[in-house]
Amino acid sequence: MTEFDLIRTYFSDVGSRRQDVVLGVGDDGAVLQPPAGHSLVMATDCLVNGVHFPVDAPADAIGEKALAVNLSDLAAMGAQPAWVLLALTLPDADERWLRQFARGLGRAATYHQVRLVGGDTARGPLNISVQVTGFVPTGTALRRRGARPGDAVVVSGTLGDAALGLSLWRGRADRDDPDVAYLLDRLHRPTPRVSLGQALRGRATAAVDVSDGLAADLGHLLAADNLGATLDVDRLPLSEPGLRFGGRERQWQAALTGGDDYELCFTVPRSRLHELDAIASRLGVALTRIGHVQPEPGLRLIRSDRTPVSLETPGYSHFPEVR
Ligand code: ADP
Ligand code: MG
Repeated sequence: MTEFDLIRTYFSDVGSRRQDVVLGVGDDGAVLQPPAGHSLVMATDCLVNGVHFPVDAPADAIGEKALAVNLSDLAAMGAQPAWVLLALTLPDADERWLRQFARGLGRAATYHQVRLVGGDTARGPLNISVQVTGFVPTGTALRRRGARPGDAVVVSGTLGDAALGLSLWRGRADRDDPDVAYLLDRLHRPTPRVSLGQALRGRATAAVDVSDGLAADLGHLLAADNLGATLDVDRLPLSEPGLRFGGRERQWQAALTGGDDYELCFTVPRSRLHELDAIASRLGVALTRIGHVQPEPGLRLIRSDRTPVSLETPGYSHFPEVR
């Protein structure tokens, strides 16, 4: 199979057809028509074999996750995603792997109504770089900065599941157990909170997606304005399977320091908190208030009885030596 056959077979019709794609895969570049009055929002992430996914992860999960992690960045900006580029290096043209990879990528692309519009394919160690472009009405993008003292800190979904999923994947857990399957799905098939991000435009004062553990990512949000926060660790949203396999003590630590959750963490004025209930029920996603922003920099952790607690490990870092 030549490189061109491969592209035509697997990557020429991925995701939703969109009116705003004037020219997609096949030419030297894609031609795209952004809507009037909008700003483009772009994000890219590379997934390296063995670092961002286990070497033996299913190919369809890798395809799905490669897109999902980028969609999560756009969600954190409040953007509507539209167009995807895929740069792929592969050790060989393993058709079974490619078919499954393209299926997973396509599933996520169709679900989120985005279109693969181009890319590059070369031989090399397995490496997947995805770039997603979306848009927001001009001036409405959510940012990491913007939080104010007194704002509530809110997080979507549940945290710590992917970290637990990774230890179950590496261990000998029974993959047919529904709770194990749930936790592995949370690792392999994260759910980017795309609709939530858009619903938060004009409501949240700041937002970030949680990819490296809540402590690190909320830390970035707070640092952007030189602010701090107190979080009640007993309020951190944990899943039932997470509680069953991890236990409460381990899971609140995993929520703060484990990676790969791809939930959104955002700040919102207390006067607008009541608006979140309708959003949560419309979108079918839990939104949990876990603390509040304070003027003093730093993250302070307390139990519900207000006793202070601390973390056992910091969040994930690719370069721990420069932390
Ligand atoms: P060029 O030599 O001009 O860079 P390529 O031969 O690399 O073009 O690619 C041919 C066409 O296929 C281009 O439109 C490119 O965007 C698209 N393409 C290549 N690889 C991929 C891929 N993995 N996914 C989607 N489109 C791809
Ligand atoms: Mg060219």
